[in-house]
Amino acid sequence: MIIRLSELDHRKGEPLPFRVTLDADDIKSRHQEIRSVTPVQAVGEAAKLGDLYYVNGDMEADVNYVCARCLTTFTQHMHVPFSESFTNDESLVLDEESDIQLLDGEEIELDPLLSEDFLLEVPTFPLCSEDCKGLCPTCGVNRNEQPCSCKNERIDPRLAGLADFFQKNNE
Ligand SMILES: [Zn+2]
Ligand SMILES: [Zn+2]
Repeated sequence: MIIRLSELDHRKGEPLPFRVTLDADDIKSRHQEIRSVTPVQAVGEAAKLGDLYYVNGDMEADVNYVCARCLTTFTQHMHVPFSESFTNDESLVLDEESDIQLLDGEEIELDPLLSEDFLLEVPTFPLCSEDCKGLCPTCGVNRNEQPCSCKNERIDPRLAGLADFFQKNNE
């Protein structure tokens, strides 16, 4: 979806509501941890305030991941708020650290912008739960489902994934 700056200029600060559905296949193909995803539904509004253009709202989707510790597939409902500001006046973007994005044209293209924001929230190390116990490095049992009697050194569950990694590399 494309928002024309001229339309925002005409509205004189009155927000322009929008709804965008991002393509699930495109999102999936751009992050290796995403096994599947429902189409991302974005609801928001755009407005011009002073010399700046704003786009903000919320995105939602259900994402399927494989837990990095126990290898179980799980679904996470993702809720991603977004808020971006733009200008086409170069003098307002004072340095590269600025959050204000410089537009080179007369429109804001929403889909790539929102896809980027969504992908930034995708974990690089997905966990089915914060305290997932992971797989036993000795017998391979899922320790969330059943205990085992292997004498593994007690390790912080937060490091269990790392321990599994080293175990595999030492075999
Ligand atoms: Zn897990
Ligand atoms: Zn075991």
